[in-house]
Amino acid sequence: MFRWLMRDRRAFIRSLLTMPAAGAVAASELNAASKKKLFHSARDVIGELGVRTFLNAAGTYTRLTASKMPPEVQSAMQGASTRYVNLDELHAKAGDRIARLLDADAALVTAGCASALTLATAACIAGDDEDRIKLLPDTTGMKNEVVLQAAHRNSYDHAIRNAGVRLVEVETARELEAAINDRTAMLFFLNHAENDGQIGHQEFVEIGKKHGVPTLNDAAADVPPADNLFRFQRMGYDLVAFSGGKGLRGPQSAGLLVGRRDLIEAARLNNSPNSDSVGRSNKVNKEEVVGMLVALELFLDQDHDQAWKEWTRRCMRIERSVSSLPGVATETFVPEIANAVPHLRIRWNFSQSQLTAKAAAELLRDGNPSIEVRPNYDEGLEIAVWMLDPGDERVVARRIHGVLSAAINASA
Ligand SMILES: *Cc1c(COP(=O)(O)O)cnc(C)c1O
Repeated sequence: MFRWLMRDRRAFIRSLLTMPAAGAVAASELNAASKKKLFHSARDVIGELGVRTFLNAAGTYTRLTASKMPPEVQSAMQGASTRYVNLDELHAKAGDRIARLLDADAALVTAGCASALTLATAACIAGDDEDRIKLLPDTTGMKNEVVLQAAHRNSYDHAIRNAGVRLVEVETARELEAAINDRTAMLFFLNHAENDGQIGHQEFVEIGKKHGVPTLNDAAADVPPADNLFRFQRMGYDLVAFSGGKGLRGPQSAGLLVGRRDLIEAARLNNSPNSDSVGRSNKVNKEEVVGMLVALELFLDQDHDQAWKEWTRRCMRIERSVSSLPGVATETFVPEIANAVPHLRIRWNFSQSQLTAKAAAELLRDGNPSIEVRPNYDEGLEIAVWMLDPGDERVVARRIHGVLSAAINASA
């Protein structure tokens, strides 16, 4: 019965989607409504545990569970969960399908982008050599240095170090070339730090090619724009890593490693289900593999202009509700790299008001419904709208209006 309902619903949504203007919003509202009906008998374990839930006006933060999977992804995962398969075969075939979708040589579904970084590094140092794979993270007799720009150090490079390598920091292209030696396994680039270092993509990739050292770009949170799924491979990176559960809205515990076939195959050998491998603690089961593939298909099929318009509309909806308050100013902004979608920033300047952006965020968190905003309070209260369910922007608008008008009244 479940399958029939899904099929009818899809057909209905398809017919809706072909109607002009009704578009994405109506379809997703319908999704939400029919999902409720389909899962009406499911246990609310989160509620049973008394765990707080909230409207996500923060964005794709892992600690806040980042994104919600579309119903099509959820049902594909549920379907996969009812069958047994050989995991290596599924990985290989799903990887090939993903590679075709992304115009790539090869691809692998990983346990998040962080895992993709570990596996990429392991592939560059141990390759497909069984003894080396077993030895990691002990790199005796192997290349064990990864070179990166100092400005590209970040908390996730721990995932690179997990493979057993030492990070070597450089600042200029000249230093980069000088740092490369016969222990150099890989060159690492942090995509969102592109404007923070002195070496840009093109020069970085060229130096890697010139010295025969593989290059890896961590573009975890840099989709959308959709073209980023293709652009870095076209530039010549040997490997590119993405989060599956951020803008792609796949499973939270999935990611993608895309690139050169020999390195992707080596990454697979360094991964679960191979017990004696550095990646064995990064298990990816059939549900994540299937969910990742379907999420990617949906994302590539999406009308990105329409999504952008919808996010802008949500920002404007919140803006309209608060901008008439005295002393309140708003602006929409788009982060240049990473989470590059419309956000709203709200600032205020009431006489005598002690309300800081952080205090406002706490009031929003403690109220009903609870709301999480971007944990970045230096320039005001920052609202992400792209991870909200359709219609939630009205609730967010009302609550922010309430918090700010209370502060205005208190300071009057
Ligand atoms: C989020 C993020 C990661 C980790 O991604 P997961 O999919 O959560 O493992 C790695 N690198 C950067 C730059 C990120 O933003």
